[in-house]
Amino acid sequence: MTSCIFCKIAAGELPGEILYEDEHVIAFMDIMPVTKGHVLLIPKTHRENVYDLTSAEASHLFAVAPSIANAIKDAFKPAGMNLVQNNGAAAGQAVFHFHLHFVPRYDETDGYRPTWDQK
Ligand code: 5GP
Ligand code: ZN
Repeated sequence: MTSCIFCKIAAGELPGEILYEDEHVIAFMDIMPVTKGHVLLIPKTHRENVYDLTSAEASHLFAVAPSIANAIKDAFKPAGMNLVQNNGAAAGQAVFHFHLHFVPRYDETDGYRPTWDQK
């Protein structure tokens, strides 16, 4: 039995507000959105972070990313969007199952600054 929360969401054992799902990946709303419409995209197979992804898994994640970004854009009408991905605690990773963040951006005071832009 896994103790990984994202594996449990992927398996339907924990509730998730699902935006997209296919055989290999699932996208769901972040439980603590940093901005309105914050979505996470994960592989259904447990992979800790980018170091563990196969090329095929990485390809598929980015193959579906544009349609997920467009769905968020259509639903929430943000002014922009950050795609962010953290690897390792030192980089801010808190859940150790690979996830790509889609963070819609509304303006400079919307509550989110990428770590490389925190002046
Ligand atoms: P990290 O810091 O690892 O890049 O991001 C982890 C993200 O997972 C955070 O944005 C956090 O709000 C989100 N998160 C943590 N636990 C849950 C959960 O149980 N459900 C959902 N939907 N998101 C979660
Ligand atoms: Zn997992």
